[in-house]
This record gives sequence, structure tokens and C-alpha cells, in this order.
Amino acid sequence: PTANSQAQIPPASFQPGEAVAILLPLPLAGSYDYTVGPGQRLAAGDFVRVPLGGRTVCGVVWGAGSGLVPVEKRRAVEECLDLPPLPEESRKLVDWVAAYTVSPLGAVLRMVMSVPAALDPPPADPVAYVAAPPPASLKMTEARRRVLEAAGQPLPAAELARLAGVGASVVKGLADAGALTRLVMPRRTPGALSDWRREGFPLSSDQAAAAAHLRAKLSGGFSVTLLEGVTGSGKTEVYFEAVAAALEQGRQILVLLPEIALSAQWLARFERRFGAPPLEWHSELGQAQRRSSWRAVAEGRTRVVVGARSALFLPYPDLGLIIVDEEHDSSFKQEEGVIYHARDMAVVRARLGGLPIVLASATPSLETQTNVEAGRYERVHLPLRHGGADMPDLAVIDMRRHAPPRQTWLSAPLVAAVEESLAAGEQAMLFLNRRGYAPLTLCRGCGLRLQCPHCTAWLVEHRHAGRLQCHHCGYISSKPPVCPQCQAEDSFAACGPGVERLAEEVAAKFPDARVRIMASDTLSGPRATAELIASMERREIDLLIGTQVVAKGHHFPLLTLVGVVDADLGLAGGDLRAAERTFQLLCQVAGRAGRAARKGRVLLQTYQPDDKVMRALVSGDAEEFYRAEADDRRIAGMPPFGKLVALIVSGPDPDQVDRVAQQLARLAPRDGGIEVLGPAPAPLALLRGRHRRRLLLKASRSTKVQGVIRQWLGRLGPQSAVRIQIDVDPYSF
Ligand code: ADP
Ligand code: ZN
Repeated sequence: PTANSQAQIPPASFQPGEAVAILLPLPLAGSYDYTVGPGQRLAAGDFVRVPLGGRTVCGVVWGAGSGLVPVEKRRAVEECLDLPPLPEESRKLVDWVAAYTVSPLGAVLRMVMSVPAALDPPPADPVAYVAAPPPASLKMTEARRRVLEAAGQPLPAAELARLAGVGASVVKGLADAGALTRLVMPRRTPGALSDWRREGFPLSSDQAAAAAHLRAKLSGGFSVTLLEGVTGSGKTEVYFEAVAAALEQGRQILVLLPEIALSAQWLARFERRFGAPPLEWHSELGQAQRRSSWRAVAEGRTRVVVGARSALFLPYPDLGLIIVDEEHDSSFKQEEGVIYHARDMAVVRARLGGLPIVLASATPSLETQTNVEAGRYERVHLPLRHGGADMPDLAVIDMRRHAPPRQTWLSAPLVAAVEESLAAGEQAMLFLNRRGYAPLTLCRGCGLRLQCPHCTAWLVEHRHAGRLQCHHCGYISSKPPVCPQCQAEDSFAACGPGVERLAEEVAAKFPDARVRIMASDTLSGPRATAELIASMERREIDLLIGTQVVAKGHHFPLLTLVGVVDADLGLAGGDLRAAERTFQLLCQVAGRAGRAARKGRVLLQTYQPDDKVMRALVSGDAEEFYRAEADDRRIAGMPPFGKLVALIVSGPDPDQVDRVAQQLARLAPRDGGIEVLGPAPAPLALLRGRHRRRLLLKASRSTKVQGVIRQWLGRLGPQSAVRIQIDVDPYSF
């Protein structure tokens, strides 16, 4: 994407009586005209409260009014809020993202004002009470005496009452009488890093060269640098140096991580390096915390933010550096609402702000590699693992020759390897990217497969929780006692393994091993994750069974063996990106092995040992793999060499969905080398009760597809019975 903002930012301010355009965080295409109220002086970016219908809403001054609404029809701005204005770069980002993703401007603004109550006055600082010398006039009671005893140190009133076993009125009475002193405890600003540690590890010469490159970029305006290096090469240490440099300049820093909830180890590491924690931003934060964090960022008090993709839209007044770690990760793609890729939009944000961005990965996306080759991005490379640890040996186990007995999934060579590493007192990991007990439940009598009633998906058995579950919509049911199709009793059988079932096999084969499962649904949050990682580090676990959550970033020094139970799993499905995605995931998993003194070993169980992904993993020749991938995509005119936009038509009534999809196909643009494929059933043809059809628009890289799409939808006209989602640069195709 290239920056090309339509933001009109007039230098002047707006006087009472003038028309201003106010953008509201609602899914509306444009701004609305209002009149500047008496005594107000507004400028672009100001947060205001305006009437809308019978209520009031908060919005942002977007520029001069359009003048299309006559004065007498315009309503007045009620109030200008006491907040720093939304910075120009944030406003340009809203314009840019809306234009690029063909989304309503207001829907993008809503991502900026991510917290419903973000604009409310900041929550008051907490108050605590501590015992003071009681005034002579105080009438002492047993209850009062207990409170004063408990109030040796400052405590919140509720806590004090609880400790003393009295009602809140007793505490209040004492405070009113002057026997308790009221103290305001100012909240600490999260991520302020007002006092941070300057020194990191002494760097190897490769690392030092990479860090110097990144440091130099900090005074060079906009740039994109790919920081590439095998897992364990020290990419994190190196970009920490760039963070330190930006901190020295007093700028704000944003680090985007995939799935922030799983990054406890990263946070601990950041705190060790800098002596203070960053501000965390992700969807699991409570409302109060989000509000105060949002404000701390807006007011420039927070220096370092680490977050999932939505952190990109915080209102940074002084952003100086962006890091996107694991830039190839698919979780940067937001698939709901405004559909965008956070890595790509982060590059846009950097360009709009004239600042450097670093994309870090051991297995960069083909998109990023292509940008490096074309000279649009720079690249620094860390070829070696830190401390001389060798890369693990990778080998395939040909399952056509080593197929395990029925209802088991571990081949003899893998079992032998696990036994060896356990005997040597080392840790092993078995990777299977499937949550639950079994991915499919089937009636032995009639072959019925238990399916989600709302999605094109099988119900996954979670035996531990005693239920069947849809992994797409969350639908839950119990196993029916009788088959609804053939009425056979107790006829359901589990098919295929999930991690829970694998754990049973492991328990039978390695009865003495201490085994744990790590999957997103077995971890109840960051705390549970941190606890599990700590037990792994303390050697309280011999064998870890995990889904893709184990693949990411964790560093376990004693882990020497990684067994990939089903290396072919990601290749099915016919998606053009499947090979790239599988290669990246398995590299990442393999990278968990042998990260310290002992050499690691990775065994891939596969029925397709000659597949290009397996061959590349074994030979370690990533370049060759990517070259072949790039050739395939270039010939097919697919991303990153061609432009692709997916249109997904969805609705509860399949006939209506089909009708609109067909109509779209008939109205499709045909000129300028544009090709429209479909409609075809979308990858999940039924999702949450909505039927989905997909059309794909293919065009050359230079085509301005957004204009084409807008015209196309314009010819169709507004639709009420179906929804049409536009996915520019779809991740799967
Ligand atoms: P990557 O991000 O490339 O996977 P890390 O930055 O996580 O690599 O480094 C791997 C391990 O090596 C980490 O435990 C890290 O602290 C350590 N490490 C990397 N570079 C150094 C260094 N220069 N001095 C000491 N330890 C280092
Ligand atoms: Zn479902």
C-alpha cells in the first residue's frame, strides 16, 4: 500500500457559527455538518459531543463543514471535551484505512475510539485511609477500635471494613471524625518507563551490526526494515536496542505481537531488559484499564505499548518507532468488521508519521520478501543462533512405512526418539495443531457425522470438558445418547486425534513421564500460560503436548526433541497459501528444539515426504522454497504479484444470498485486465447461521481496486437482506 491521504486538515480553527464536519464512530460513510456553538473554538482533531437524533454522541472534528446542510438545519456542537486532539497522523490513518479497505470512515474511527468510555473523564485515583491520632472527642467503640488497628497502613475503605469485620459506615464515621486520614494514591502510568535500564546484553558482531542499522534508522524518517534471523538468533535482543534508542529520544514505541495474551514470556523479558513493564493493550483488558491506558497514550505519558493488532489505532501523539514481531503471523489479519492486515496498516502508519518500522521474523511472508527484493524494504539478517547453538536436525518419518496401529498416532521411530530424550533427562514436545479430543465424531451404525447446526464444521469432542463444540461459533452440545439418524444406541466413535487423545496415548506409552497439554482452551489466560511456561523452565514437565500456541516465541533451554504428529495437516484444503503457512508454522515449531547447549532434533510424521514443504524443511533451504512459491504465484497472477479482493455475500436465507451473488457476478467489471471468479461457496459456506458465497476479483498490482469495487457495488445498489463484506488482500485464496 502507498500513503495517499484524503484528510483535509485546515490550519485555522473554527469560530462560533461556522460549519464543521464531525466524524462519528458509527458505520457511516462520511462526516456530518454541525455548527460551532457559542463560546467554542474548535480545530481539526478535537473531540466533541454532539446531538444525534434523540441522544448525544462523541465524535471528532474532521475539517470544515461541507456546506451542504443549510444553517437552519444544522445542530450545534454541545461541548468540546477535555482531551488532547486526535493527532493528524491518526486522522490520516483513519482516512487511509477506510479508503483502502473500502469501509465506512466512521467504522474505522470506532477502532481509534476503541473504548466506549474512552472519552469520559478519567477514573478518579483510588483513595486509601490510614489511622491518625484519634481526636480527644472521639467516642471509641469496639468496632472503631478494630478499624483503627487494621489501618496501620493505607488501605481502601472497603478493604479496611472487611479486615475489621465492620460495615462501611464505621469507616466513614471515623474518617469524618478525623481519626482516619484520607490519602489519594495516584495511579502509575502504564508503560511510562520514566526510569529505565539502558544496558542490554553485550551483542555479537552480527547482532551489533543489525542493531546499529536499526538505530541509524531512527533519525532517517520513514523506512521499513525486515529483521530476519532463525529462531534463537537474537532478533528480540536486537530490536530491544532500537526500542532503547527511541526511548532515548523520548518518543513513543509500539510493538505489535500476534495474540498478546500468550506473550507472558515476552513481557517478562521486556521487564528484565528495561527494568519496567510496557503498557499492554489487548482485548482481554477490563474497561477501566482500557480507559486509563487509552488516555495515558493520548496524553503522551505512556512511552511503550505492546499489543495485538488493535494497538495500532491508539492515538499516539509522538510515535517514533513501530516493531511488528512475527510479521508473517496470520493473526495480524482482522477478519471481522473492518477487514485489514495490521502489519500492512502499520507500514502505512509509519509512512504517515515519517518513522521507521521493523518487521521481525524467522520466516518472513512472501509479501515482505517480495518487497525486499523490489527494494521497497531493507533487510538485516542474523544468520546464526545466539551462543553457537546449532540449528536442530530435521528428518521426516515416512508414515506410509511406519504407520502406527489403529487408534494410535505415534510411529515407532518417534516413540523411540521420545524414549531416548526422556532417558537422557531432556524435555520433548509433541506438536499437533488440533484442540480437544477428536476432530470428528461418527456414528458406527450409519456413518452420520456430528456437525454444527450453524456452521459447515464438524463438532469437536472435548472429552475433558465432557462436550462437543464448534470451533467456529462456540456452539456446545453433549454427545447424543442415540444416533438421531439411525437410532442406534451408544454408537458414536471418536475419529482422529486431538491433543487430549494424544495425551492418552502418551500416558500409555510413557507412564512415568510428566505430561502437560498446552492449547488455547486449556490455558485460562496469561497467568495460566506463565505458570505452565515456568513449570516447563523448572523441568517439572518432561513432555509437552501442544497446538500452535507452543510454536510461538517460547524459549525452553532443555527442550531437545520436537515431534510433529501430523505435518500434513495444514496442507489440505487447496488454499494457495497453504504451503507457505505450513512451512512457516513448522519452522516455528522446529525452532523450539535445542535452543541452548544441547542440539535439537525435529521429527516430522508425514504421508507426503516428497512434498515441497517437507523437502524444504529437511534441506533447510528456505530460499529455494520461497523462490518456487514465488514462481507459482507469479504465474497464477496471485498475491503478492497480483491484487486480490474477496467479496463475501452472507445472510440467513441461502436463496437470497445466491441471488445477490449471481447478480454481483453479472454486474462484475470486465475491463482493464480484471477477472472475477465465482460465486462459489466461501471456505466456511455456513458460519454462525449465515450462508456465505464468495467472489474473487483478480487484477494487476497497479490496479486501483478500491475504485473498481465501489463502482461495482454502486451498480448493485443497497442490499438489506444480505451483507457484503469486502476483504482486500484476503489471507487465504
Ligand atoms: P529470536 O527473537 O531471534 O528468536 P531471541 O532474541 O529470543 O531470539 O534470543 C534467543 C535467546 O538468546 C534468548 O534467551 C536471548 O536472551 C538470548 N540472547 C540473544 N542474544 C544474546 C546476547 N547477545 N547475549 C546474551 N543472550 C542473548
Ligand atoms: Zn458453529
